[in-house]
Amino acid sequence: MTQSFQKVRALTGMKDILPDTSSQWETLEATVRAWLAAYGYRNMRTPVLEQTRLFTRGIGEVTDIVEKEMYSFTDALNNEHLTMRPEFTAGMVRASIEHNMLYDRPHRVYAMGPVFRHEKPQRGRYRQFHQIDVEALGFAGPDIDAELIIMLGRLWKILGLSDIRLELNSLGQAHERAAHRSALIEYLEQHQEVLDEEARRRMHTNPLRVLDTKNPAMQDMANNAPRLFDFLGAESLAHFQEVCDRLSDAGIEYRLNPRLVRGLDYYNLTVFEWVTDRLGAQGTVCGGGRYDGLIELLGGKPAPAVGFAIGVERLLDLCAHSGEVTSPPECQVYVIHQGAAAQRLAARLAEQMRDEGLRVIVHAGSTGFKSQFKRADASGASLAVILGEDEVASASASIKWLREPAIEGQPQQETVPLDRLMKELKLKV
Ligand code: ATP
Ligand code: MG
Repeated sequence: MTQSFQKVRALTGMKDILPDTSSQWETLEATVRAWLAAYGYRNMRTPVLEQTRLFTRGIGEVTDIVEKEMYSFTDALNNEHLTMRPEFTAGMVRASIEHNMLYDRPHRVYAMGPVFRHEKPQRGRYRQFHQIDVEALGFAGPDIDAELIIMLGRLWKILGLSDIRLELNSLGQAHERAAHRSALIEYLEQHQEVLDEEARRRMHTNPLRVLDTKNPAMQDMANNAPRLFDFLGAESLAHFQEVCDRLSDAGIEYRLNPRLVRGLDYYNLTVFEWVTDRLGAQGTVCGGGRYDGLIELLGGKPAPAVGFAIGVERLLDLCAHSGEVTSPPECQVYVIHQGAAAQRLAARLAEQMRDEGLRVIVHAGSTGFKSQFKRADASGASLAVILGEDEVASASASIKWLREPAIEGQPQQETVPLDRLMKELKLKV
């Protein structure tokens, strides 16, 4: 007796992307690649799995990601501590150091793919999700900071998104953050009674993150806390001003948000987020900033850098409202046939159509005309090519419009000799 097999399901928070949705992903990815190419960005692919210490070092011990969201395990074969990448930047920087990429010139690079975080799944928050990650390695800015943001403005326009706004802040330099940090810790110590457990735990290790709280009871306290922005010196302010001026030149509106600190440890100077009200609680579509210290922190020769990551699921969710990212039909032409000779002719003709660049499905198997027409309709093709016994006998094919005729008054169906078929199809599709 065979034992019944208990069905295996996908893991919580990890989604299958089925063909109807996947075609929207492909359309978006193609748009994104063309958009990035227009600014000289080149693709880079790093492994999904990295040594755990890359992330504990690169992202910071006292961050949400490292404290509670990483998928980490010990490789039983050699006892190495490994982690599924929770973001791209650390891996991209590791690779740039490992391959001496920054030896003679800076690089504009990007990556797309899945990242993994053990979070509570909900709309816009998954355990495997996807990012479009863009990094300008070796650039000191502020011109490049502004260019990255302006670039994003262009992407939203290409995608037909208007309900998305920019929040901007500067985190200054290390010494400015140190001065602010002392003032902030002192302030937090004075307000111990409103701090939740997490905040109390973090107030001495990562006090800036305490202000990033979503706890409503702590909002007043956070709003009145000493602002890092007020501790910035002339140089940091000048960098920030230059970014703002360039954004104004480009007609990009922004809001200064002094509480924007970003979840990761490595940022300095410019930080930004693009947010929308259309996605409920998970409204941040893109976050980024400058991270001048990270390359050195990870063992490279000191070099400045700036980048951002877009959450693809959230972006696609937003695009669903704009209607710009649609899925193309399965094919342009669906070939229907009846009888053994017609079926073989269909296969040969379809190859010729593909030579001409058409996307073609030949009905597989041999069923009646009626069910073939149903399939043709469901495929989304604009034309069906019909090969029956009559057509084979007279060396011709019938072309039938499955959608509205492109030109009014055109017949719904017509029969053409085979030697004219390709020309007719190219005119009609
Ligand atoms: P959040 O505050 O929403 O947790 P984050 O600061 O952790 O975001 P980043 O590390 O900046 O996010 O990641 C860049 C982008 O990736 C986010 O702006 C968001 O669009 C997306 N993102 C982050 N976490 C998730 C997730 N669990 N599921 C889906 N998308 C996510
Ligand atoms: Mg997060």
